[in-house]
Amino acid sequence: MEQQHAAQEPQPAEQVPQYKQCAHCKEQKLLAEFLRRTGRRSGKSSRRGACRACRKLRKQPAPSAGEEDSLDPDHSLSVSSHSREAAESGDTEPLHADTPPPKRRIRRPLPVPPPRPEGPSESILRPNREGILRMRGKTDKGRRWQQETDLETAVTLVREHAAVVVNRHIIRRIYTNRSFRNYILTRDQHTCHYCGEYGDTIDHLLPRAKGGHTTPVNCVCACNECNQSKADRNLEDFIVSEP
Ligand SMILES: [Zn+2]
Ligand SMILES: [Zn+2]
Repeated sequence: MEQQHAAQEPQPAEQVPQYKQCAHCKEQKLLAEFLRRTGRRSGKSSRRGACRACRKLRKQPAPSAGEEDSLDPDHSLSVSSHSREAAESGDTEPLHADTPPPKRRIRRPLPVPPPRPEGPSESILRPNREGILRMRGKTDKGRRWQQETDLETAVTLVREHAAVVVNRHIIRRIYTNRSFRNYILTRDQHTCHYCGEYGDTIDHLLPRAKGGHTTPVNCVCACNECNQSKADRNLEDFIVSEP
């Protein structure tokens, strides 16, 4: 017995045209203009924050590990900075030389932290009988983790709005790796803190190697190029150095 085709195919919800505002250029664009998210927790209709056109303006390919776990912009240091995408020789930029002119670095106001979360003040924190404090948090997958920390780190994380005080011996990280990254890129509108171009990496103003922490106060959006050239330098040293 042969079945007749239904007159109308039911349309899956995801195929209904939807619009989204680009996090960088702020234009409303069709969802198709945004790359799908990849990775473990990406939902069906989850799309990246910046449109394809803005992404294409990037000067360099993103580090391959950049999208997953890493609150680890320093990671990108290991990525070659000279593999340019052939596709970039589009119509927007006349590329006549291999080396683009050095970027102008702009001094900008430092990021404004998010409103301070509810909770006891960091002044009540002190080490427990074993001389430590504990820090709790969640992974991107929602799994809980806990690790030891010291008083100075705990106080800084709470002060810089990255954690809240649970009790005098325990703090809790507010962000997962992914939600932190999303928070910073959205706050900074995918705009590099140093040169003002499109950016999609997280940079520590005070490098971690010098005691900086991964907090809303100490992190900014940066383009790959600025992130790599700043490396472990302090903000001041980077801004005043020759590009
Ligand atoms: Zn855009
Ligand atoms: Zn930049």
